[in-house]
Amino acid sequence: MAKGSDMDAVVVGSGPNGLAAAVTLARAGLSVTVVEGAPTIGGGTRSEELTLPGFLHDVCSAIHPLGVASPFFKTLPLSEYGLEWIYPEVQLAHPLPDGEAALLLRDLDATSSLLGKDGPSYRRLFQPLVERWDDLAPDLLAPLHFPRHPVATALFGIRALLPAHQLARFSFKEAPARALFCGMSAHAFLPLQHPLTSAFGLILGTLGHVAGWPVARGGSQSLAAALATYLRSLGGELVTGCQVKSLADLPAARIVMLDVTERQLEAIAGPHLPAAYQRRLQRYRYGPGVFKIDWALDGPIPWTAADCRHSATVHVGGTAEDVTAGEAEVWRGVHPERPFVLVAQPTLIDPSRAPQGKHIAWAYCHVPHGSTVDMTARIEAQIERFAPGFRDLVLGRHTRNCLQYEHYNANIIGGDINGGVQDLRQFLARPKLLAPYRTPLPGVYLCSSGTPPGGGVHGMCGYHAASLALRDLK
Ligand SMILES: Cc1cc2nc3c(=O)[nH]c(=O)nc-3n(C[C@H](O)[C@H](O)[C@H](O)COP(=O)(O)OP(=O)(O)OC[C@H]3O[C@@H](n4cnc5c(N)ncnc54)[C@H](O)[C@@H]3O)c2cc1C
Repeated sequence: MAKGSDMDAVVVGSGPNGLAAAVTLARAGLSVTVVEGAPTIGGGTRSEELTLPGFLHDVCSAIHPLGVASPFFKTLPLSEYGLEWIYPEVQLAHPLPDGEAALLLRDLDATSSLLGKDGPSYRRLFQPLVERWDDLAPDLLAPLHFPRHPVATALFGIRALLPAHQLARFSFKEAPARALFCGMSAHAFLPLQHPLTSAFGLILGTLGHVAGWPVARGGSQSLAAALATYLRSLGGELVTGCQVKSLADLPAARIVMLDVTERQLEAIAGPHLPAAYQRRLQRYRYGPGVFKIDWALDGPIPWTAADCRHSATVHVGGTAEDVTAGEAEVWRGVHPERPFVLVAQPTLIDPSRAPQGKHIAWAYCHVPHGSTVDMTARIEAQIERFAPGFRDLVLGRHTRNCLQYEHYNANIIGGDINGGVQDLRQFLARPKLLAPYRTPLPGVYLCSSGTPPGGGVHGMCGYHAASLALRDLK
């Protein structure tokens, strides 16, 4: 990269957090350049024709409850720059072995009434969160601080700290509610017997009611494109194809924002970092990874439970017990025979991504860190259990294992899509307890999902890191 005159800020990496940081700095009037290693911008929000011509797949993220609810993205005029969220009729479907499916609907009462005997318990669990979400969101999607709404946050925290498997057994009597809750909680990438896993189920369930689980029209790349176009309108610049190996590669700038995770920070800045901070980075842990398949399909997935045909997201794994067992196996380093599979079927609501009458689908399962095992047969067998005839629709497929993901995007270390384990310890210290974004190097900040509030497409890590940098600058 050419070393021109000093600029205000350089952002390394153009994932949603890098772009959020760049926009935050540019909105404050700073000159900003984003330096991206890959040939295209977007990090985890890119879309490509991975299988056949005319079939546009989301390479990483596809479903955006965190994106649509992001307190930061909400402040941006992204719809003016081409971003349109499309909402399914059913936010999430979880098919069960009896041929029925548990459903997450926008309407809390409707969701509760479908859960039969567990309806009142479901409502008791989620109603306070739904009612107080606007108060809770800025406290939950932020680094550790004294909450602005301590009572609401404490009420959330008491339940969130519980292992999801226990909360599901304690709160619900029947299979559908238990499976629905454990499936959402499995986004934690932790065994569901671990503390804090309920936090994921509670937040994702609440978002189903207050915001929805939409897709972006034209693919997740529309979000990256909208952020980039808005950034350019503020005077920001983006450079692609420039992998940063050392801080010395960068032009002089008052602020350097790194949309990279802890291990990469050590590689990029290692020699300049104090030994104690280096050790902290070395102790930082990465979790299980993903094996993902993208399919070009001749028709929609023929789910036995017809309600699954009205949702862009389907959690495939059967009962809460099955999901719990599979996630525990992954944590122990085992590849489950019947993995928990997350399926996205965006063309049901966004037909623009495939030729007329055809469909795309995306699915991943959790696998041990760094795995290169091909899970295609196991993932397809799981879907076939709940959608017989699925395999006959496959026109083309594309797969990626953990190491191929890391090669594709250096942030996905060992296939970990969350930028590091999100257990209690690394939830609090990510990578450190206070001002986690600030590194010991003056003006250098971490802003990726390896900082609070962690993985997902919400831009809040970038927003908080850039806000701290602006305060430091003053
Ligand atoms: C298969 C998969 C499915 C997912 N599904 C969802 C989903 O449905 N919903 C959701 O909310 N989240 C999902 N996620 C997670 C989400 O994509 C990430 O949490 C999110 O993208 C993290 O954003 P980030 O900006 O921190 O990092 P990233 O999006 O990973 O971006 C980092 C960027 O920095 C660049 N970079 C890294 N190192 C350097 C360097 N040294 N020099 C220059 N550039 C560099 C990378 O090329 C990349 O473009 C998924 C992820 C994967 C992999």
